[in-house]
Amino acid sequence: MLLSVEELTVEAGGRRPILREVSLTVGRGEIVGLVGESGSGKSTIARSVLRLLPQRARVSGRVLVEGDDVLAMGPEALRGLRSSTVSMIYQDPRSSLNPVRRIGDFLTERMVHTLGRPKAQARATALELLAAVGMRDPEARLRQYPHELSGGMLQRVVVAAALAAGPSLLLADEATSALDVTTQAETLALLRRVQAERGLGMLFITHDLHLAAAFCDRVHVLYAGTIVESRPAKELFADPRHPYTQGLLACTPDLGDPRPIRPVPGRPPSLDDAFDGCPFAPRCPHATGRCESARPEPVTAGGGAAACHLLEP
Ligand code: SF4
Repeated sequence: MLLSVEELTVEAGGRRPILREVSLTVGRGEIVGLVGESGSGKSTIARSVLRLLPQRARVSGRVLVEGDDVLAMGPEALRGLRSSTVSMIYQDPRSSLNPVRRIGDFLTERMVHTLGRPKAQARATALELLAAVGMRDPEARLRQYPHELSGGMLQRVVVAAALAAGPSLLLADEATSALDVTTQAETLALLRRVQAERGLGMLFITHDLHLAAAFCDRVHVLYAGTIVESRPAKELFADPRHPYTQGLLACTPDLGDPRPIRPVPGRPPSLDDAFDGCPFAPRCPHATGRCESARPEPVTAGGGAAACHLLEP
C-alpha cells in the first residue's frame, strides 16, 4: 500500500483531539477523497503524512508511506519523503509562489538545491513539466512572474512543481477551491490526467461532497476529527448511510432536485467541545439518548462503513 494511516490520533491541547483514531489507505493509481467542513481535521491528516504538525501536538498511531513509518523517521529520511516521495498541492496557487521570483526560478530552485540536480538539467525538466501540464510556450513561461499568469495557469505551474521530483503520492489540499468554475474543471482534468499517466496515488481533500463523489474512487467523510463514513464514491453519492453525509448532500444546490436546500442545523464542534457519545448528536435529526452517551463504532454498510447507532444490527 502506498499510504496507510492507522488509528491516527492528534491532540493539541483542546478538550477533544483534532483527529481521533483515523484509519485510511491510498493505493497506487487510486484517488481517495477526504470530505468535511472547516475544522474537521482534513488538513491535519495531510500534514501528518508529511509530519508537519506543531511541536506541541501529541501524535499516536502510525502513518506508513511505501511501508516506512513517517512518525519514526530520522531527519534524512524525512527530507527524502518531503522532497521526493510525497508532494502537496495547496489551495491558493498565488500563496505557493514568491511574487518577485520568476516561474523558472520557482520550478528549478527546488530541483537544484534540494534534489541536487545540475541547473541545465533542472531547466530542461521544468520545460518538460510545463509542457506536460499543458502550458503553451514553456520557454516564455519560465521568464514570467506570477502576476503575469492567470489563476489557472498558476495552478498548472504548482502542479508541475509538485511533479518535479517524481513523487508517488500527491496530497491535494483544497487544490481547486480558490479557482473559478471553468479553471476548476481544467485543473481537475489535469490532475486526473497526470495521476493516471504516472500511476500516482492521490489524497484529494475538499469540503465539496459532490466534487469528491465525481472525482474520487473512494471517499471518507470526516466530522470533528473522526471518519464517520467511508465508501466507494459513486455509492456514497447514490446511497449515503450516515446522517451527516445525508445532510451534506441535502444542503448542496442541485438543479435537478426541486426540493429546497436543507442546511445542516447548528455548527461543527470546536476543539473545546468534548463529547462521550456521537460527535454529530447535537445536530443530528435522529439522535437519541444513547447517541449522547455511547460513541458509535463503524458498521459495515453496503460497500463501505458508517459510524452510526442507527445502522447497528
Ligand atoms: Fe445521529 Fe445517533 Fe447516528 Fe450519531 S449515532 S449520526 S447522533 S443517529
